Amino acid sequence: MDIILAAEPEIRLTAFLSVLAAIALWELAAPRRRRDIPRVIRWSNNLALVVIDTAILRLSFPILAVGLAVLAEERGWGLFNIIEAPFGLAVILSMLLLDLAIYLQHVMFHAVPALWRLHRMHHADLDFDATTGLRFHPIEILISMAIKLALVAALGPPAVAVLLFEIILNATALFNHANINLPRPVDRWLRWIVVTPDMHRVHHSVDPRETNSNYGFNLPWWDRLMGTYVAQPAKGHEGMTIGIEQFRTTRDLWVDRMLIQPLRGPASGHALDTSALTPTSRNSLWTLENTVLGSRVTQKGTHDETTYVLAGRSGCHTPPASTGQHGTGH
Ligand SMILES: [Zn+2]
Ligand SMILES: [Zn+2]
Repeated sequence: MDIILAAEPEIRLTAFLSVLAAIALWELAAPRRRRDIPRVIRWSNNLALVVIDTAILRLSFPILAVGLAVLAEERGWGLFNIIEAPFGLAVILSMLLLDLAIYLQHVMFHAVPALWRLHRMHHADLDFDATTGLRFHPIEILISMAIKLALVAALGPPAVAVLLFEIILNATALFNHANINLPRPVDRWLRWIVVTPDMHRVHHSVDPRETNSNYGFNLPWWDRLMGTYVAQPAKGHEGMTIGIEQFRTTRDLWVDRMLIQPLRGPASGHALDTSALTPTSRNSLWTLENTVLGSRVTQKGTHDETTYVLAGRSGCHTPPASTGQHGTGH
């Protein structure tokens, strides 16, 4: 185990780069949706964010999840080390419980307004591809790691289970954000086992009813069990609009703007946002639905401040990106 632990950064980096390269090629060969934003803008900024996130994470914690699991094994900390559960059972249960924790944490990040401010940055990407799966605010990464460390300390999972879970989660996050066109029967079958791109894309819809669904990153079962599963976007995968109502300019896709997004505008759109139920908001949603003619995002203007607006039947409906207001101004 010491050898595996010593090589953990290399193992994870190699797995990550291999999966990213494979999925990037797959996206080129069989894309699901037309791209609206030049790849160079999104990829350079999303990947720069990964570097920043990794550096902050490594500098902030003296030990990460796998290291803590090794320490817990040595010291006899945590449930599985105390009851001495059979190894195979402990591996499977640990991975299931870690995945359930990630699901619940994701629901929490949508429900609590302050946490939604951090997490909405993941949703503010205006296209949906493998690099979207890497786009998380560093503070969300730190909170997420703190929760994971607490769970590892309490559970005492085999270190191998934690390492496997981390590698699988990295790979599935790239896969389920991929802009790839899986044959429908394959998707129908596969989404019983793992969250597919078509399943997770629903979660990136601008429609709050769809944003607040399909929280799973790995196993699709929690959404089905907990009642948060939405099979398909109402407007179809090609017709749906990706993102949130706030932050719809190309400038918002730059890494410096991403980092300050939690501080900008109201925390509207979170899962407990009751304004989503007010007549104003219903009207807003109705307007959105009726102006989204096929929901294709069109480009207005040509420079950094390009606003990606929803194409209307007559004129354009501009989401309130500049005012940061939600449910008003339509
Ligand atoms: Zn989310
Ligand atoms: Zn996502």
